[in-house]
Amino acid sequence: MRLSRFHLHTTKETPADAEIASHRLMLRAGMLRKHAAGLYTWSPLGLRVLRKVERVVREEMDRAGAIEVSMPTIQPRELWEETGRWEKFGGQLLKIKDRKDAEYCYAPTAEEVITDFARGELSSYKQLPVNFYQVQTKFRDEIRPRFGVMRAREFLMKDAYSFHLTDEDLAREYQNMHAAYSRIFARLGLKFRAVQADSGAIGGDASQEFHVLADSGEDSIAFSTGSDYAANIEAAQAAAPGARPAAGEAMRKVDTPTQKTCEDVAALLGIALARTVKSVAVMTDDGFVLALVRGDHAVNEIKLRKAPGLGDYRLATEAEILEYLGSEPGFLGPIGAKQAIRVIADREVAAMADFVVGANEAGYHLAGVNWGRDLPEPEIVADIRNVVEGDRAIDGGELRLARGIEVGHVFQLGRKYAEAMNATVLDENGKAATMSMGCYGIGVSRIVAAAIEQNHDEAGILWPEPMAPWRVAVCVINPKNDANVSAAAEALYDELNAAGIETALDDRGLRPGAMFADIELIGIPHRVVVSERGLAAGTFEYRARSAGESENLDRTALFAKLT
Ligand code: ATP
Ligand code: MG
Ligand code: MG
Ligand code: MG
Repeated sequence: MRLSRFHLHTTKETPADAEIASHRLMLRAGMLRKHAAGLYTWSPLGLRVLRKVERVVREEMDRAGAIEVSMPTIQPRELWEETGRWEKFGGQLLKIKDRKDAEYCYAPTAEEVITDFARGELSSYKQLPVNFYQVQTKFRDEIRPRFGVMRAREFLMKDAYSFHLTDEDLAREYQNMHAAYSRIFARLGLKFRAVQADSGAIGGDASQEFHVLADSGEDSIAFSTGSDYAANIEAAQAAAPGARPAAGEAMRKVDTPTQKTCEDVAALLGIALARTVKSVAVMTDDGFVLALVRGDHAVNEIKLRKAPGLGDYRLATEAEILEYLGSEPGFLGPIGAKQAIRVIADREVAAMADFVVGANEAGYHLAGVNWGRDLPEPEIVADIRNVVEGDRAIDGGELRLARGIEVGHVFQLGRKYAEAMNATVLDENGKAATMSMGCYGIGVSRIVAAAIEQNHDEAGILWPEPMAPWRVAVCVINPKNDANVSAAAEALYDELNAAGIETALDDRGLRPGAMFADIELIGIPHRVVVSERGLAAGTFEYRARSAGESENLDRTALFAKLT
């Protein structure tokens, strides 16, 4: 690609509302343009990277035996009624009406549609197992879209759904997908970890998340240095409820709450968003205690407790939360209390003036309910250790905490959807059998942002090579003034591309400083400068994006570097 003919639009300004590095750098590199909250155009540059990720995902899904389909992004209400999720899914479901007043939603996920497809297509056990996938746009009406494409409303997801006659076969495919996901993230050059996710009633290995490790991650994961144990915080806590500190003990520290005004709460939340971690316990005058913890950028840990009197706390039931929210049944749906409190936080910050608020400054941290990063590490670990130890294979290792960005999720659904939608096949005996299902998601567009969180420096992005828009940039010094230099750069550019090395030619005629700054900002892994001086010496100036030093190489040495 000749950059003079490509639409590159970088900027020096740091966008004001971009809080994390990936968001800032994607905007500065001109990869994205925002139209409304959580809605972006991917520029030609951004799209090149997105497509790289997509290609790796496709190749590995194909290799793992999944088969690509394409489902509609607009889905009819009727299918969602069959599973009860039209009501239950909650506020993330964007509902739409057509001119005849028929109702639809924009797909946030596609279990209903794929199950409808499967019940029409599959009639015999001989057609099983089968795993259908797509790479398709999703829409979720996130309460707080943020960090650019990291938490967008419209985003690109790879979603796969497998169908089986038996649960054993589902478990096999789940392992197969787990392995495929590990290959995908390894191939993309990301540091990642697979962790147990809280799969509620199903339990066991039924759900795992893949996290890209990054300090700015919204999620917390606990892992052992002495074993394979790794879980997200929700799962770690759910694993050993008995080991949690007694509820009264945990909450005692709010006995002497500080009076806070609405502004204080807003400020607390604002501070949290601006990177300082705070937890906030809010007590309403009807005795409902909400504990919010803001992590680096977001609500991390959330628990709701009903307080008939101080000292007697417990987790609120779903019914109590609903009653408190005045919400329709099913509102919490599959997302649970975690999402609910986000709703509460958003809806009610404005009304908190009358509430009693305790924050986690010094003595006000709510042990076992939550924890924040401004607590000393040992204290955090002790909190979580309380929860996890005695239950799980820490195996003499150290329990460590890390921040992660959820980029993938594999799930054994079992027969829940197939049962609700009557998706059956005939088994060996000619009897109708409800199929068992798995679902497997990857946040394709989120991966782009997550990769930047993990790989950047002062100057810009450092793409892992498989994701880079181009592997090599050939930079021409003074192309307009010097025909020889231009010709040599063009020749090198052609040769590199012919050798299968994806190369961009920076023939825009920018001054060297501005040109190099752009190439560094957009993260091209290898830079080759063609200049009059180099030509005279028979060398090219080569520099790896990750290295400080450049070196002068002749053609042979340069090709050896790049191939
Ligand atoms: P999160 O916990 O971050 O809200 P999720 O658990 O709701 O994600 P899943 O339903 O598991 O998401 O969807 C599969 C994948 O889609 C996630 O692992 C994530 O990578 C991606 N994803 C989910 N929501 C968004 C979003 N709003 N923007 C970008 N990617 C997303
Ligand atoms: Mg979500
Ligand atoms: Mg999640
Ligand atoms: Mg998930």
